[in-house]
Amino acid sequence: MKNLVLYAPPAAGKGTICELLKKDFNYNVLSIGQVLRNQRNPETEVGRAIIESQDKGVLTPDDIVLKALKEELAKFEGKAIIIEGYPRNIEQAKMLDTIFDNYIVVNLSVERELAKKRTLGRVNCPKCNKIYNVYFQELSPKNGEICDVCGSKLNIRSDDNEESFNVRYDVYEQNAPAILDYYNNKGILYVVDSKSSDYVYNQIEPLIKNA
Ligand SMILES: [Zn+2]
Repeated sequence: MKNLVLYAPPAAGKGTICELLKKDFNYNVLSIGQVLRNQRNPETEVGRAIIESQDKGVLTPDDIVLKALKEELAKFEGKAIIIEGYPRNIEQAKMLDTIFDNYIVVNLSVERELAKKRTLGRVNCPKCNKIYNVYFQELSPKNGEICDVCGSKLNIRSDDNEESFNVRYDVYEQNAPAILDYYNNKGILYVVDSKSSDYVYNQIEPLIKNA
């Protein structure tokens, strides 16, 4: 099985795809946020650098993120890996090649307006956790603000705000061309339209089996 780097803007459905590939093919998912949390440790040099940057509220430096990722990868020697949430920029993409190989890159593409609707329209039932999206008819609750499943009152205003969505999408848009170019030149890039999780899954499955 090939290793996989999932590269995508916010709301492209990375989480769902990771879960499916984990379940069906025993992939080990290394999400960069989780990697940093796992390596946050006052006893190690890398851990202290992570704590320092996070306490200041700044991005963890590229070399530290790489070292953290290397530590986590060592836990899964010889097993199939998915990396998600990384690389964030072209420098990180190049650095990754010093510690990771035998991989393909799948770029889940989703346009800004659709990604925005998926993010901002999302509503969770506070009681049973069913997820709705008020911007999509098929995902909307059937009776106004009442949960279809448990009848609880839904708070239809999402917690996600437009400003933070825009920042995240902007970061993606600024970095994506160089990163996609880099992987395209290496011949390992596959772009998949993130129209639905079934569709994405069906596109990825033959890639990881045959690549
Ligand atoms: Zn409910």
